[in-house]
Amino acid sequence: LLLIIIICLLMLMLSPLYRTALEGPSNTGGRHSFIYSRTEQMTSAMAMISKDTCLSFHKRTIEDDYLLFQTGKGCASYVGFIGGEQPVFIGSRCIVGNIVHEILHALGFQHEHTRLDRENYITIFAENIIDRSLTGMEKNFKKHNGETFSLPYDIQSILHYGRQFFSANGKPTIIANEYEGPMGQRANLTWTDIEKVRKLYRCGELC
Ligand SMILES: [Zn+2]
Repeated sequence: LLLIIIICLLMLMLSPLYRTALEGPSNTGGRHSFIYSRTEQMTSAMAMISKDTCLSFHKRTIEDDYLLFQTGKGCASYVGFIGGEQPVFIGSRCIVGNIVHEILHALGFQHEHTRLDRENYITIFAENIIDRSLTGMEKNFKKHNGETFSLPYDIQSILHYGRQFFSANGKPTIIANEYEGPMGQRANLTWTDIEKVRKLYRCGELC
């Protein structure tokens, strides 16, 4: 299962930064059988991103830079382009929405709840985060000075954590200051998720 994200051919030629991609293992046996069994979910995740943006995905052929889907304990990805064979980890409990979330990380997006303006919308309870000193999970809650494209903070983003993510004690790690709807959903891309992809990859400008 070799899968590559190619934004558009023109952009690929113009900028190596846009050559982000994911790939799969090179044989079908043994320890690789799990990741092959998730092919449908992975292709559904890529289709969800392609549907509303200018990004498209295809199998790797000779590209030097690509994303490699691998079996993981959980769902995980680097944030942004690291070059070469870049792993994205898919665990047994990762649903399509989780895979979309991880691909968005690989495409360069940080968690929504790490925006600098988050205190206007949410409160983080660091003391409730699981094994803070041991696992480094606290870093998943650290603020980043990222590009927001002036889009509004989106508590329903597919890149936002839910109320008890990485909780050590069942108590909330994040609560919304006022909003009372769902937080941390993994069902679909929101309007702002789609817009941030379109803006970062300049959909409609270069392609
Ligand atoms: Zn994440």
